[in-house]
Amino acid sequence: MGIAENISTIEEELSRLGVKLIAVSKTKSHDEILEAYQTGHRAFGENIVQELVEKHEALPKDIQWHLIGHLQTNKVKYVVPFITLIHSVDSLKLLNEINKHALKHDRVIDCLLQVHIADEDTKFGLDHIELIELLRSEQFRQLEHVRIKGLMGIATNTPNEKVIKEEFYELKSLFDGIKQSFFKHATYFDTLSMGMSADYKIAIEQGSTMVRLGSTVFGQRQYNK
Ligand SMILES: *Cc1c(COP(=O)(O)O)cnc(C)c1O
Repeated sequence: MGIAENISTIEEELSRLGVKLIAVSKTKSHDEILEAYQTGHRAFGENIVQELVEKHEALPKDIQWHLIGHLQTNKVKYVVPFITLIHSVDSLKLLNEINKHALKHDRVIDCLLQVHIADEDTKFGLDHIELIELLRSEQFRQLEHVRIKGLMGIATNTPNEKVIKEEFYELKSLFDGIKQSFFKHATYFDTLSMGMSADYKIAIEQGSTMVRLGSTVFGQRQYNK
């Protein structure tokens, strides 16, 4: 199947479930992205700032770009002018920096706080205590140009479905608790970004509202060394 067929099929399946699709286009060409775009799809995700900026400049301006990879504070200024949602906010320092640049552009930037759920040291994200400390801090409450729309998490890369299921269950429980404690009357706190090609079905069973799919949409990635 081609990209257009893939995306239409997945989009239909997900929309029935009320789950939003982010088509992860990292390493993919402009033409491949345009093939998906022509089906009417608009939400695309990239994990590297330089690649994201280059594609934003080259491709149609009504694409909604999502940053799904780690963001360094010195790169914030490049994405703030156009980004739709930053999935990977993992510190108050970063949030502060996003706020500072958003103020200059007179924007309010939607962000997700990335939570560390995987059984691996290498994955970025806040642990539960850091997350709660951040949300409780006086400094956070003063940031008027960022809006926390929810949480994001990446499960362990393992064939063991029980492990993945438990990690997503944990993140959904945390999401519900955080909503109740900090965003009870904030209708915008509605996004739980969890699930990639290998595990999105489990993620949806566990309450995901947004999945980030690369290879399911575009086919396997080729990395040129
Ligand atoms: C690459 C990537 C994805 C998509 O991965 P696939 O396995 O191709 O679906 C999702 N989320 C993040 C954070 C990624 O870096």
